[in-house]
Formats: sequence, C-alpha cells, structure tokens
Amino acid sequence: MAGEAWRVGETAAKAFHHELDLVTTGVVDLKEVMRLAGITFVAHDLGPKAGDGRYVKKGGRAMIVINTHVRSTGRVRFTIAHEIGHHRLHTEGAENVAFIEEQVGGGGNKPREEREADAFAAYFLAPYRSLKADAERIGDISVESVVDLMVRYGLSFQATVFRLHNSQLINAAKRDALLRDSQGRVEAVLRQKGGYAEDDQILVGAELPTSFRENAFKLFAHGVIDEERLAEMLRMPLSKARRVAAERGVAAPEVPDIDEEDLADLFDDAAPGN
Ligand SMILES: [Zn+2]
Repeated sequence: MAGEAWRVGETAAKAFHHELDLVTTGVVDLKEVMRLAGITFVAHDLGPKAGDGRYVKKGGRAMIVINTHVRSTGRVRFTIAHEIGHHRLHTEGAENVAFIEEQVGGGGNKPREEREADAFAAYFLAPYRSLKADAERIGDISVESVVDLMVRYGLSFQATVFRLHNSQLINAAKRDALLRDSQGRVEAVLRQKGGYAEDDQILVGAELPTSFRENAFKLFAHGVIDEERLAEMLRMPLSKARRVAAERGVAAPEVPDIDEEDLADLFDDAAPGN
C-alpha cells in the first residue's frame, strides 16, 4: 500500500495535525477536530446498503454523514478521518462536492483520491512518532497488543496492522501472521479488554428518538435539503415545517441552485420505522 498516494495522505495529515496543534499521542477527538474544521457532523442509520458514510459540501459548507448502521467504533472513526481527508485534500475551492463511501480502508484497487483519503485517515489517527514509541515499548507485537493499539487510536484491527506495516514497525510476514491469527478473535479480545473508550461509543451509539428531527434541521440549515424535503422528513405539512424551523431559528442558507440530484439517496432509506 506504499506509494505516492500514501505520501500525499501522510503529508496532509501531518500538516493538519500541526495546524490544529494536536497532541500527537493517544486518541484524536474527532468531534472536536470536525468542529475546528467547520464541518457539521451527522450520525444517522442509513441502513445496511448505504455504505460507511458520506462527505457533502454544498455552497461551501461541509458535512460528514456517518452511517450508524456500521456498529464498529474503529470503522466509524476511520470513516470520519477518511472524510476529513477528502475535506482537506479534495475540496479546496470547490463549492459543491460529494463523496459517497462504499467501503473505506482495506486497500485494494481504488481510485487515487480514495487511497489518499485512506492514507490521511491512518496517519491522522495514529501518528508515526506515537505509534513507534508504542511498538518499541511492546516489543513482540501479538494480536492482543494490536487490539490494545486499535483501542488506543480508535482504529479497526486491519487498519492498525496496515498502519504498523506502513510505518515499517512490522514486516510483511508479521502483518500477514497477525491478520491470519486474528480471524474470528478480534471481537472477543476487544470485549475482554473492555472495548473502545466510552466517548467513542457516542459516535456509534443508539440514536435518540429526537435525533432524526435534529438531523433534518441540520441538513436544512446546511442547504443539503430544501424545505419540502424538511417537511417530508419531519412528517408535517410544509407550512408547519416552516413555522417550526422559524421558531427554532433555523434558516436555509442562501445557496443558489441546490442540486439535490446527487444527494437524492442520502436519506431515502433513513426514515424512522423503515
Ligand atoms: Zn472516500
């Protein structure tokens, strides 16, 4: 997985770390990073077929939508970092852009932009210096110690193994052995160790009954959906939706020509009760 795309991702991740003045050890607070980057975050159950998430920029406003149907903190965190990678690398100067993720991470034959965003995510979540210190402390890296690291950095097992290999902290044989030996075991080891930090569970935890409404208002305020769609999502007549939005001080941005076409499927499977 080495190569130019990975260098691009690494360089961008380092630059963003520097810009944010992030402490480069431990778990990165992704919600805080999104806040600082001016990205709106929406977690929503989009169903099993909707992929891992989306990055949407409309009228210069950025939003990351995570499919909470994916109930793995590591994968969700990786997806968020991947979308932040798109935000930093592929949307500069663009007013309207969208990335819809089938599956982030995992390597394979993907478009260059996707590989760059994957690389950004891996480096952003597990900076080299910090990971190197951990690897030296651990010595011989086992499946158990990889699980410790994945919890520490909020990565998936596979992403952690690839990250260690890309950083030349383990060789290819060790990488393959870890992937082989971990099959069917990761969840059990993870449970044994108490799982991910509680904070991270917020990212994938069960939705509150009100969150669907909140998300609808966020999308509306963002210009991603228009007031007709807002009314539809709130299951109320247009006039009432307008009034409720006004009462809450939520207004659509003045974005000319909102093109809903490429986002049409964004929430189609997301209505409550579906
Ligand atoms: Zn992507």
